[in-house]
Parts: sequence; structure tokens; C-alpha cells
Amino acid sequence: MGSEQGGSPISPAPRSLSERRYAALWPRARESFERATRVMPGGNTRTQLYVAPFPVYGATAQGSQIELVDGAVVDDFLLNYTASAVGHGHPKVGEAIDEALSLGSPFGVPSDSEIALALQITERFGVDRVRFTSSGSEATWQAIRGARAFTGKSRIAKAEGGYHGGFDLVDVSVTKFGESSCLGIPESPGMGDDILKSVTVFPYNDLDGALERLQPHADDLAAIIIEVFLNSGGSIPGDPDYLRGLQSWCVDNDVLLIVDEVATWRTSFAGAVSDYGISPDLLCLGKALGGGFAIGAFSGREEVMAVFDPRQAGFVRHAGTFNAHPVTMVAGRTVLEILDPATVQKMSQLGDRITEGIVKIGNELDLPLTASNYGSIGRIHFGRRPPRNAREASDLPSRVDLHRLLLERNILIGPEGRFSTCSETTGEQVDRLLEAVSEMAPIALLGMGLSDTAVGAHPTKERS
Ligand code: PMP
Repeated sequence: MGSEQGGSPISPAPRSLSERRYAALWPRARESFERATRVMPGGNTRTQLYVAPFPVYGATAQGSQIELVDGAVVDDFLLNYTASAVGHGHPKVGEAIDEALSLGSPFGVPSDSEIALALQITERFGVDRVRFTSSGSEATWQAIRGARAFTGKSRIAKAEGGYHGGFDLVDVSVTKFGESSCLGIPESPGMGDDILKSVTVFPYNDLDGALERLQPHADDLAAIIIEVFLNSGGSIPGDPDYLRGLQSWCVDNDVLLIVDEVATWRTSFAGAVSDYGISPDLLCLGKALGGGFAIGAFSGREEVMAVFDPRQAGFVRHAGTFNAHPVTMVAGRTVLEILDPATVQKMSQLGDRITEGIVKIGNELDLPLTASNYGSIGRIHFGRRPPRNAREASDLPSRVDLHRLLLERNILIGPEGRFSTCSETTGEQVDRLLEAVSEMAPIALLGMGLSDTAVGAHPTKERS
């Protein structure tokens, strides 16, 4: 049985004024958190979701809004870290799932639902072959395994600030950086000592610096894994010349290029890669593809993906009890139908409007406040100009205060300042976000006008 006794305090005493106001404003969330800490370390099963002194808790969600356990209905710009690209409880996704459930699944033998989604993916993203996993992390992990098997080489290279999932091989130099650029730093205690022998880290958006790091390993490098848009690393679009330069270096050196679009595929109809004119050997997808359910997919050229064919000698093993779960497959198909070119464009335009609006607020108030986005995914930065790499992003002040303060105005963004839009996001919601930012950003940055109690900030159910 879990017990509070002898453990760490349930939630640390609030430190900043914004923290104190927040702690007073969400008593039900505090209660949930207190119950949670009795049974889960840190009260949580996803490190990222912890916000001091406790996170807000969701009760229900519909479209682009979430009702919190405290009763507030908030405009959701976090959207489960971009995964809810068709919003919450989309009726078409619901219908498709009901139908899949009525068939009684999963079966433990393959089903046609898998073929249908695979077909849609190959057509939309221009890949030859695809396989499904239950998470984005598994997709990148299998892609790496496939690349190693295909090339017969074992080292992989990743960009500083690139996030490719929670497993040891790639959880290096994501948020932690060494003194010298590109010294590989494991993100967590508990990772094996040998990891750094298999991973080379190179700088993002600096082609010369990257090639300098990569060239000595040309002979033992199986693959480079990269995001065309550094999402977790700071909402930083890759320079087209940088990305194309990496691709041609890969071609010249028999190194595979794995593009990780687990998060970013929803920014353009055929993924961000299509905007850059890059054709990776392997392409990883996930997050929004599952319509709110757990999914990942890795795909690519027929010749490379053939290593997973169990009819071949020496094939690569790919396991997973819930891979290609029929419910997720039909949800995925529906998501791809909803996210047609016009909807993707509308979401991107709203993303652009958020960035433009925040830049304008920063200029008008003369504050170090700006934003960057790639289509429907972006981030607010407390700086005069958007960062060009994850190091610059991590040097900027924290945005957690803004996350807490915006909740007082019924707006949810990520504690890191992340925002995204979905098919259900409206222009009115963007207006509300911008209005709340212009009110709260000066307070978050300068502590101006902040009193101990959140006056006039009352959670309300009346919202649409
Ligand atoms: N790659 C990228 C680019 C991601 O953004 C993420 C998730 N944030 C992952 C991989 C891992 O996906 P999952 O959380 O589904 O394992």
C-alpha cells in the first residue's frame, strides 16, 4: 500500500507569487495530486506532465476545450502535446471506433483495418512500406534497428536538442548540453554507461559543425535521425540548406536518413518533409495519427523496409502485442480523412496568427517576448528573437509562470510555452489566447501588478 509517511512532501511549498496564486485557484487539482502521490512516485506516469506545485487535472474534453476537475472550461492549445490534432471526442472518430469495437478486437491475427491505414499512409506520405507500433518511441527505435540491420553498421547520430522518444539510445543531449557543443549527455540517471559509445551528437542548423562531427564516423554510422522541425527542442524550423546538406552527405557516405515526423507530420498535408523536398530512407510517424489513441508508425523505401520481412533470412524482429490495434487503425484512417489539405491549411493559418500576434504584443509592449511555429505547432519564447537551436532555447527564461497565469484566463498552453492548433480550434479562441498573453506575459516576465490572490480570475463553465 502506498503511504504518505516517510516520503517526500506531497507538493513543495509554492515559491513564486504566480505559484501561490495558482495553488489557491485549483483546490480540486491539489486534492487529485495528493491522492496520486500516495500511489505513484511524483503522482504521475509521464515526467513531462508534472508542474510545480501540482498539475491541473482534466475531467472531460470536447472539441478544442477541456473541462478541468475544478470546473473551469479551458481553451486547449496544448492538445496533448500536438497529438489531439482533430480535437477531443471527434464524432467521426467516435463512430469509427464504435464500429471497430463491435467487431470484437484485437484478434491476435492481422486484420484488414491495418491494410487500409497502411495504404492511406503510403499514398499520402509517398513511402513504399509501413509498419505500426504502439508509440512514437517504438517507431524510432524500430527504424534505428532496421537501419542498423540494413547497413550492417551500428553507430547512430542525432542532433542536439532532437527528441526521438524515451529510450536510452536517443535520450541523449535533448535538454542537457555539455560545455562543448555536441558532447553527448545522457538525459537520465539509469541509462547504461555504454550509450555514448553508440551515439554521435551533432549541432542543429549548423551544417559545417554537423559534418565535422559526422565525417570521422562515416564508416561506422548506420543512420542519422533528425526532425525537420525541432519540436520539443524549441519549435525551431530546420534550415532547408542544412537539411538538404545532411541528406546529400548521407547519400555520399551510405548512411541512412531517418526523418522523425512523429509530431510534425500534421503540419503539412504530406508531412513537413514534403515542404523541404527531402526524401528520407525511413520516415517515422505517430502522435496525432492515432486520433487520441496510442500509435506510432515507421515507413520508408521498400528496399530498406524489406529487412522486417519474416520471409527473408536474417529478418529484423519487430514485436508488440498492441501493434496495429484495430481501434487505433480505424481512428487513424478517420484522422487522415479529417485532416484534408484545407483543414491542415486552416490549422496552419491559425498557428501563424498566434505567432504573429505574440510577436506584435512583444513589440508593442517592448518585452522580450516572441514566438515561432511551423504550421499548426509552435512555442512562445521569452526572448527578443526566436532561438536557432535547442541551446539558445534553453538559455531563455522559463515559461512555467506564463502557463500558470494563462490558466487564470482559461487558456491551456504547455509549461514550456508550447501551443498547437487542431481542426476544431476557432479564430475566437486564438483572439482569447492573444488577449490573455498580452495581459499575463508582462506579469510572468516582470512580476508586474501581481497580488497574492488571483482576483477576478475565476474558473467558469460558461465558455464555447
Ligand atoms: N519523436 C518525436 C519527434 C516526438 O515528438 C515524440 C513524442 N513527443 C516521440 C518521438 C515519441 O513518441 P511517443 O511519446 O509516442 O513515444
